[in-house]
Amino acid sequence: MDQHIIIIAEQFEGEISPVTDELIASARALQQFTNSDIKIITTGFKLSDAVRRLSEQSGIDILLINPVSRTTPEEIIPDEIVFKNIPASLLNDLNPAYICMAHNSKGLDAAPGLAVKINAACITGVEKITRQDDGICFTRSIFSDKISVHITPCAKTTILTIQPGFFKPDSTFNGNTGKISIVDLPLSVADYHLIGFKNNAADTSALNEADVIVSAGNGIREKENLDLISQLAELFPKSAVTGSRPICDKKWLKYGQQVGVTGVTVKPKLYIACGISGSSQHISGMRDSKFIVSINTDPHAAIFNISDVCIIEDLTTFIPQFIATYHESQSI
Ligand SMILES: Cc1cc2nc3c(=O)[nH]c(=O)nc-3n(C[C@H](O)[C@H](O)[C@H](O)COP(=O)(O)OP(=O)(O)OC[C@H]3O[C@@H](n4cnc5c(N)ncnc54)[C@H](O)[C@@H]3O)c2cc1C
Repeated sequence: MDQHIIIIAEQFEGEISPVTDELIASARALQQFTNSDIKIITTGFKLSDAVRRLSEQSGIDILLINPVSRTTPEEIIPDEIVFKNIPASLLNDLNPAYICMAHNSKGLDAAPGLAVKINAACITGVEKITRQDDGICFTRSIFSDKISVHITPCAKTTILTIQPGFFKPDSTFNGNTGKISIVDLPLSVADYHLIGFKNNAADTSALNEADVIVSAGNGIREKENLDLISQLAELFPKSAVTGSRPICDKKWLKYGQQVGVTGVTVKPKLYIACGISGSSQHISGMRDSKFIVSINTDPHAAIFNISDVCIIEDLTTFIPQFIATYHESQSI
């Protein structure tokens, strides 16, 4: 039997997670090298309109795993719990060559355990797929994204977590509708107590409208240096301030201002990264900015790989001088 490429698609509150489009793009990239059929596995306690829409828009067959529990209301069982409990026999019956999940908290929670369960290889944070002489090669970043590693797995099945932001969704529609089949999965969720979900209610509309975004990273070192970032932003009309995750974790900026895979995605005309190393998680939220300027003391910082202008300088030296020079030029 031919091997398949399986996509494991997340749902939240009855909607298929948007990252699924990128998983489909990664599966199609793999398909160019393997000719394998693609199938989607998703979960949900009932067949929703969202699953029907996915089958219509993607043209891919879907296996909906329906959790059945006597201890917990099925509608509140998070899908990563379901994914972790997919029986090995069910996955093996699909004869997967590759299983693609998102490189996010749910994917990272489920992927390693599933790999052990079915004796598969597991490659996390995949950013690129290419064909090499010895097989299909997966590229991911290590050491704060300064080094790219190229991995060619030897296992019969490989589980991949796909880094969001690296595979462009393809909206071409092949005219077919995928078939949907449903499987019940009895689940005992005794070790699990759900407190609730908290939505991030942040209003990010100002970021979408900003022409210029000045973003602060760990390199600002002191909270007081955020003033420099704001002063730099104020030089530009229609500007906004954002930050990397450590800055938002320290509560120096709000979570709604965090750029990246677990924050917002921005595409301004100009993105100025101040003291940001350029982790793949950050880059996936700003790589489509039209022009990128980065200020960093480390000449090997990964952010420079995607920057149009690279300023190797201490930001506490560069930004005040830049602002002073700007004001001088205005007063002439
Ligand atoms: C599942 C997951 C999700 C994540 N989601 C996100 C996300 O959405 N967004 C995000 O940003 N991160 C995210 N992260 C964290 C990410 O991996 C990095 O840890 C983070 O992006 C690093 O932030 P940074 O570049 O500001 O800090 P650092 O990596 O500490 O880099 C600081 C940089 O500042 C430079 N620097 C130091 N001093 C100066 C100075 N005086 N002047 C100029 N430059 C200086 C340094 O050379 C360095 O390059 C996520 C991680 C995981 C595991």
